[in-house]
Parts: sequence; structure tokens; C-alpha cells
Amino acid sequence: MHDLQSLLNDINQTLISYEDRGVVADYIPELAKQDSQSFGMTVATVDGQVLSVGDTDVPFSIQSISKVFVLTMALGKIGDTLWKRVGREPSGSAFNSIVQLEHEKGIPRNPFINAGAIVTTDVVLAGHKPKETIGEILRFVRGLVNEDAIYIDEHVARSETQTGYRNAALANYMRAFGNLDNPVEEVLGVYFHQCAIAMSCSELARAGLYLANGGVNPQGGIKVIPPRRVRRINAIMMTCGHYDGSGDFAFRVGLPGKSGVGGGILAIVPNKAAIAVWSPGLDTNGNSKLGTVALEILVAKTGWSVFGA
Ligand code: GLU
Repeated sequence: MHDLQSLLNDINQTLISYEDRGVVADYIPELAKQDSQSFGMTVATVDGQVLSVGDTDVPFSIQSISKVFVLTMALGKIGDTLWKRVGREPSGSAFNSIVQLEHEKGIPRNPFINAGAIVTTDVVLAGHKPKETIGEILRFVRGLVNEDAIYIDEHVARSETQTGYRNAALANYMRAFGNLDNPVEEVLGVYFHQCAIAMSCSELARAGLYLANGGVNPQGGIKVIPPRRVRRINAIMMTCGHYDGSGDFAFRVGLPGKSGVGGGILAIVPNKAAIAVWSPGLDTNGNSKLGTVALEILVAKTGWSVFGA
């Protein structure tokens, strides 16, 4: 068995001198403030090890990685009927694209593009006030890690609200097709807050463990979801978790993964581990550039790709 900690140290050493770090998201001022030199990586194993290198205790904006947690909650609320309102095919277009929605009559391609995530948020909001729902999402994520310090960055949420014209367009468009039940402002309010959850790599890797362990959180043995649902969420992460770069991520890394424009990636090694990596510089698809390279090296050395060594 390889020594995981030395491998993480080697990856950090290799990447320290990397100059081609991509571009930090600048669509909202709060994200543009991030330092492109930051890098952290944590591997949490199902048997209880948590190994880290770099800036793994620094909270960053998880952004679209929150879509995994909210999908989990939405499926918990309405089960498979969710699939009447959102598809499960890769979109082959940008995270905030509106073009497909017209052709597909307001049914988003998958729960990991913005339109799809706005639908899962609408499901979780049903019957509640936005504040309660934001609290419920935060409690769910905190509960996965048993860490009450996880918070919502209000500056990011506000910044996002002030500039969220495209998301407002997507939400209004879906409402026009009857695919949103709650008022657009309320759904968007919750969506922007879930995207603004701030977590460190060490927290995020532990939060993802239920997806590596058949739905049971190994930290405390709590059953979060049934194994069948884990399998399906992982499949959607593999096929849709990196927007228009999902095929390339499968090719290079070969793990279910979900990226966010804050520069984080959560990757799942079924039955073994959950990995969180953070480096704010993004590639042209909005996925962490160095984070992907780090995972590529890790998988090459460990043979952890689901497609074989
Ligand atoms: N909050 C971002 C948006 O909705 C999420 C984008 C992302 O992380 O991909 O535009």
C-alpha cells in the first residue's frame, strides 16, 4: 500500500512551481479576491484516516459543490419523482447556459448545471420559508462533518444576488414552463446562499464520505441515503459534475467529481475515500486547473480511477 501522506506531499511539491494556474473567477468581486497561489488537498478514507497537504484548513466558497448536497436532500424529499423535473444527461454546454432550456421545455439537463440546481433548491424549499431552508441545508452539511463552524459567507451571497441576472433568467424561464413551484426571488435567495457555504478541504472531504461509503457516514455510522441513491449520485457526478469539461475529467481522473467556481473539487473513490482539493485558478470550463492536475497525479499513483489502474 502506497504511503498516502508522502504522495500528497509529493503532489504539493510538484505543483508549487506550476505557473499555469488558470484564472480566478471574477464574475463576482468576492471571488475575485481569492489568491491563485492557494492550494490544499485532503483525502478522507472510509476507514477513518484524514490526510492533508497545503491550505486545507482555509474555508473557501464551495459554490456548485453545494449542488451535490442539495440534490441529496431533494431526492430525500421527493425520491424518483425528481426526475420528472430534471434530467440526468450531460449538457455539453456552460454551467449557466439558457439555450437548451427552450428546446427542452424548461426541464434542465441535469441537477449540476445552474438551472437543474435551481430546481432541486425549489424542491427543498417547498413548504418552508427561505430562511428555514437555508438553515436546513447548512444543518445538513454541518451534520455530515459534525462541525458547527461551517458557515455561509454573507458577502458572497450578497454579491451573487446583486449580479445574478443569468440565474434569474433561468429561474424565470423555468417558472414560465411551470417547473418552479415557489416564487423566483425565494428560490434564488436560497440558491445563492447554498453556493456561498464556506468550507475547508478537510471539512469538505469528510462531508463527502457518505458517497464513498454506500450512503453511511463512517463518522458516527449514520445512514444518510440508501446505496442505490449513492450509486446514482456518483454516476451523475461522473457524467455531469464538471460542466462542459466532464468528459475530460472522466478521461484524466476517472472519478465521480463535482467542481465549483470557487476552485474546489470534491471527488469520490467508491468504497475507499472522499477527496477535496482547492486551487482557485479555473480553466475555461470553470473547473479548478491545478485541482484537476492534482487529482490526475493522485489517481495515476494510486490506481483509484473507477476505470482501472
Ligand atoms: N453560484 C454560481 C452561479 O450560480 C455557481 C457557479 C459554479 O460554481 O459553477 O453562477
